[in-house]
Parts: sequence; structure tokens; C-alpha cells
Amino acid sequence: MRLDKLLANMGFGSRKDVKKLFKQGSVTVNETPAKDGKTHVDPENDVIIVNGEELEYKEFIYLMMNKPQGVISATEDKSEQTVIDLLEPEDLVFEPFPVGRLDKDTVGLMFLTNDGKLAHQLTSPKKKVTKLYVATIDQALGEKEISALESGVTLDDGYETKPATVEVLAQGDGLKIRLGIMEGKFHQVKRMFEAVGRKVVFLKRETIGSLTLDETLEPGTYRELTDEELALIK
Ligand code: URA
Repeated sequence: MRLDKLLANMGFGSRKDVKKLFKQGSVTVNETPAKDGKTHVDPENDVIIVNGEELEYKEFIYLMMNKPQGVISATEDKSEQTVIDLLEPEDLVFEPFPVGRLDKDTVGLMFLTNDGKLAHQLTSPKKKVTKLYVATIDQALGEKEISALESGVTLDDGYETKPATVEVLAQGDGLKIRLGIMEGKFHQVKRMFEAVGRKVVFLKRETIGSLTLDETLEPGTYRELTDEELALIK
């Protein structure tokens, strides 16, 4: 890969900005000063130092965000703010995208990466990855509704949902249900509750497979996954 392209990809600015770094003698490759960006480098094996700091090259980025309400899970939109708009420039250079959708008013775990293979593994229905949601609903669930949700309900478009898990967290004020599903149909959780005559008034995603939302992340903030978290979902 060309050195100027690598540096531009890694957030050192445009090719013009990067040119300046070469002129200033601020870049070395295996201890030899790089005179220009044409040099071909192997980012995984060459030791590249910029402004005295060794480049830590990575191909992929893995981010967990606590998605806030009012933001859509798309990469770009003309009028709405997207989860991508919440990312810092140094992460944007990797061109991450949100894995799976959350509605504008849904909060919680959003996973973003540029690793298409992993994204596919997590979203393909064949892989049966469970996602846990906590829904606040308008009316308590009876045994009948719980077992219907567990065994599968018919959505408004005729789709029969696959078996789900249902855990009643609070039946009194703020009726809270944890629902585990392995599919990701449009508005699926809201439509499943609708199918049993309930309305979701607040929805939060807690997990995607073995990846759990870090509750210390303020809504709208994000961080890279730890190596341990990554190992759990790869
Ligand atoms: N199901 C929904 O209804 N909404 C979401 O945002 C995610 C799952």
C-alpha cells in the first residue's frame, strides 16, 4: 500500500497535509526517513513512525455505542442525525457502519464496524444470534400472552415469528419485559407486542449475542470493544 494513502486513511489529513509531513522529515519507515508518499509499505510489518510515534495500524474497527433516542441507525441521511454523525473523525476514517437497525426512538446497544464478515455473522438469520431487548409496555402480560410470544406470534404482515424468550422484569408500574429474539424484522419487537395487544412505550437493546451494552456509556457515547468482548462475538 502507498504510504501517503495509508497515512490519509489513518486520519493524518488529506494527501496534501500528508505531503507536508514528508517535507518536514516527520515520517520514517524502518528507521529510514520517507521522502514522499510513493513508497510502498506493508502496514502490518513495517515500523512506521510519524512525529515520533509508531503507527498502530489496524484494518478493522469495532465500536459499541449507547444509542440515544432521536438518532437513526443509518450511515447518512439528508435530514436526520445518524449514529455515524456521533463518531469522532479518527474513527470515521475506518468507515464503520451500524450492524443491524434500531428505530429512531429505540436506545441501547449499537454495534458499529467496518468488518463486513462479522456484521454478516451477527445479522444473518441463519446464524441465530439472540438479541435481548427490554421493553416498557402499556399493560401487564398474562400467561396467554407470554406463551404466545414464546412460541411465536403472527405479525401484521402475516409473518410468523420464531420462538422467543420472555422474562417479566416488572409487572407493576413501568411494566418491563425482557424479550430475546433471533430475528430482526422491521419493528419486530414493537410488532410482536402489538400482536398480543400491547404497546411498547420505551425500548432498549441490551445485548447482541454475547456482546452486552456497557451501562457506563452515556447515551450518545461509544467506545472500542475490548479484546475480550471481540473474542466473544467473533
Ligand atoms: N424491534 C423494534 O421494534 N424496534 C427496534 O428498534 C428494534 C427491534
